[in-house]
Amino acid sequence: MKTYNSLSEIKSDLLANTISCVELVNQYLKRIDEKKKLNAFLEVFAASALEKAKQVDEKLKTNTAGKLAGMVIALKDNLCYKSHKVSASSKILEGFESLYSATVVERLLAEDAIIIGRCNCDEFAMGSSNETSFYGNVLNPLDPTRVPGGSSGGAAVAVAADLCLASLGTDTGGSIRQPASFCGVVGLKPTYGRVSRYGAIAYASSFDQIGPLTKSIEDAALIMEVMAGSDDYDSTVSSKPVPEYSKQLNNRPTKLRIAYIKDCLEANGLNPEIKTYIYSLIEKLKAAGHTVEPVDFPYLDYLVPTYYVLTTAEASSNLARYDGIGFGYRSPNATDLESTYKKSRTEGFGTEVKRRIMLGTFVLSAGYYDAYYSKGQRVRRLLQNKTNKILNNYDFVILPTTPGTAFKFGEHNADPIAMYLEDIFTVQANITGIPAISLPMGTHSNGLPFGIQVAGKHFSESELLSFSEYLMKLK
Ligand code: GLN
Repeated sequence: MKTYNSLSEIKSDLLANTISCVELVNQYLKRIDEKKKLNAFLEVFAASALEKAKQVDEKLKTNTAGKLAGMVIALKDNLCYKSHKVSASSKILEGFESLYSATVVERLLAEDAIIIGRCNCDEFAMGSSNETSFYGNVLNPLDPTRVPGGSSGGAAVAVAADLCLASLGTDTGGSIRQPASFCGVVGLKPTYGRVSRYGAIAYASSFDQIGPLTKSIEDAALIMEVMAGSDDYDSTVSSKPVPEYSKQLNNRPTKLRIAYIKDCLEANGLNPEIKTYIYSLIEKLKAAGHTVEPVDFPYLDYLVPTYYVLTTAEASSNLARYDGIGFGYRSPNATDLESTYKKSRTEGFGTEVKRRIMLGTFVLSAGYYDAYYSKGQRVRRLLQNKTNKILNNYDFVILPTTPGTAFKFGEHNADPIAMYLEDIFTVQANITGIPAISLPMGTHSNGLPFGIQVAGKHFSESELLSFSEYLMKLK
């Protein structure tokens, strides 16, 4: 199969009539089947994808096709698509079918994207390795003994292994950027409030954002301009106008001010090759005439604890709705109301989800609320203030996406804290709400890819994407 790296490549083949959308979808379906072992897809929507492809082919003939005609896209299994199953990779939602589509799904379809299936992920998006999925591990296509990252592991693998052109993931603490880094693709977490969360299964509502995983910056820009913008169904979305990101990729000031957080680059546990790579990138940027300076951020140790106190609190509340009554799994062993709740939740949720619900319930409990939840909120504000102060002075911050390259299955099984520390460089963007992107720029001597992360000011996606385009060429 001919592989494509961007929608513009597909479009030129469609225009030249060397392929049709139906043929394209069939090619991807074949490849998904050949790569079944990767376990990236929980379900392929062959019938609806082919139906949509047929419609788009018709529209192409009459020049009425939308902006995303030819884009074959996969959804993380926590995004609702009407009349299609969605499970958040949890047993508790086994067999559940979406009653409506997420706003992002509606908007992609309206521009003629073709949705090819739903991708495996960590259960309720909780994890950094895709190992918490009820439906088994997703394999890293570059080394099947290693994790793809998480929680949008299947979505990253689907793009990296050419099972579709792009995918949508969600990022609460790094779940788009970290798997993008481990699989060698682009992953963008938008500003909190840029993209509607309506129809995304909630994990931690003040952190969650939906974003694209792609091979090219151009595709990330296109998907963003289609998805972003105000939505009557989500009051946390900003009404700021959405720029045509894809048309602004070359708008760039010639001299940029870029910061790097010294504490991040000197952090214990950062792989030395990733550190060296970032320092050499800094030199290249300086040589190109940009100002690149170290800044202090003496709060690195507070990021992961703040993230896990606040997100588990929100998760314990969000996940209260899975009670065995309204929808989803109900235990066959229940005998009365209380045992329905208890048994359905005990049997329906996996270990990691239960750990977080308990932790979240604890930090919100009357006796500990002040010591943990309310303290966590205050630390969040401090981290936001400090981050905003840095971004008042600089256009971007450069940092690693992950401490290392993809790790082996089971490597962090004995120690959940070690797994949580994998998120050290990604959670800052979610705690503070700023946009951040992981770019597939590095290759380690072990042969595996690693990402470089760039973060920017709130609602600076346009600048962030054009700087990303520049960086990818600079590598
Ligand atoms: N790895 C982080 C966690 O386990 C991030 C998850 C996410 O962004 N959904 O919570």
